[in-house]
Amino acid sequence: MEAEQLWQAVLAQIQLNISAANFATWFSNTKISSIEKDGAIVSVPNSFSKEWLEQKYNKDILKILHTLNPNIKTINYVVSAVKTEKKPASSKKQSIKNDDNLVEQLGFSELEINKETNLNPKYTFENFIIGPFNEMAYAAAMAVVEEPGKNYNPLFIYGGVGLGKTHLIQAIGNKIKQNNPDKIVRYIPAEKLISMIVNAIRNHNSEDLKKNLRELDVLIVDDIQFIAGKDKTQEEFFHNFNSLYQRNKQIILSSDRHPNNIPAITERLKSRFEGGMIADINMPDFETRTAILKQKMEEKGIIFEKEVIEFVANNIQKNIRELESAINRLIIFKKSNNKNPTIEDVKKLLKTIIISSSKVTNPKKIIEAIVEFYDIPSGNMFYSSRKKEFSKPRQIAMYLLKKELKLSYSEIGRKFGGKDHTTVIHACQLVDKLWEEDEKIHQEIELILQRIYAK
Ligand code: ADP
Ligand code: MG
Repeated sequence: MEAEQLWQAVLAQIQLNISAANFATWFSNTKISSIEKDGAIVSVPNSFSKEWLEQKYNKDILKILHTLNPNIKTINYVVSAVKTEKKPASSKKQSIKNDDNLVEQLGFSELEINKETNLNPKYTFENFIIGPFNEMAYAAAMAVVEEPGKNYNPLFIYGGVGLGKTHLIQAIGNKIKQNNPDKIVRYIPAEKLISMIVNAIRNHNSEDLKKNLRELDVLIVDDIQFIAGKDKTQEEFFHNFNSLYQRNKQIILSSDRHPNNIPAITERLKSRFEGGMIADINMPDFETRTAILKQKMEEKGIIFEKEVIEFVANNIQKNIRELESAINRLIIFKKSNNKNPTIEDVKKLLKTIIISSSKVTNPKKIIEAIVEFYDIPSGNMFYSSRKKEFSKPRQIAMYLLKKELKLSYSEIGRKFGGKDHTTVIHACQLVDKLWEEDEKIHQEIELILQRIYAK
């Protein structure tokens, strides 16, 4: 089936289950832009619908797509400006307009990214909340803002997902630029930098790249951990790094882990990363989570009751992006129902975010979800076969039995045809590592978890 037909089929089914208004709001201007090896790329018109589709409809969409095309096991939503059709039917026109209005009202439209610096002006220190979890990183950032290139070089910020690394390093860039309009500041996500380097090597114009980077006063590279295992790229980056460093140009890096834990990175690059200041961002405590929620609500001009704020702060602890999603959902509820959500409403609205707080499951559900997800025959094969197609799902099953149910290693071993407990330990460690390092596996496990808890 062609991508377009597939998507039409999805829309047809979704439409049956949700209100016309919701359908128009969330699904207008969406399409499958491509089908990759095992996943579909769905393009959506703005970050607002991206979030909503990911959080609320992903499971249904994936289920339908997977039934139509069993190869599709994951979906990536990407924001891209889909052109509006030339002559949309009048009802469609209306819905697109509503969509824009809503987005505008809620203030979700992305601000312009600065073409010269590649920085997003929405990330500032003014809207960055400081607490015990990030004060060290903040203090280091301030020292860098004060005298770029002098105090800490490089500044290396690390921490888990959604805890404010991108926000902080972009705020530094914005502030330096504001204080010193003549300085040349550039923000580059590591994926982008890597592809720039790869292209330069391929086209034999490393010199151009060097010149290009050499003119910078401040280089900010986000998610530098992606450079792991890419030897040639590391080598090239090392030279560029040195060239900037030797001339006291400021380098700022972010990573999801400490340089010591970035696998397959050359010693000399690692020691460069460690040569300046390394600061981590932890998880925010309750007070800070409350402060962040309040600030986000103020930005949107909507305040919820104390009880609601506390519920959110108590139940979403590990990720500031999720706190924002929670607020957005509550605001949408309020706008579309014209009333404040009750605590019961809040629980329902945030259920998929809070999944972990109310979870109950059992080994049967976990194994069923995995067998279904990977589409493998469930019989004995799954428990004992050495074939690779079974070993990954089996390792994930062991991992989830451990993580979700806290079964003992030997107990898990027994469930899998009497495997030794060391085999189980090995599987759990392996998956634990993949969960951290392999975006795709991470996402697969997330999807499996959603299935387990939806059963
Ligand atoms: P990371 O890069 O660590 O994954 P981000 O910087 O993208 O995380 O942060 C996720 C979201 O949370 C962003 O929208 C960001 O603006 C917001 N955020 C993160 N830290 C803070 C903070 N200390 N104060 C206010 N908002 C924050
Ligand atoms: Mg980031």
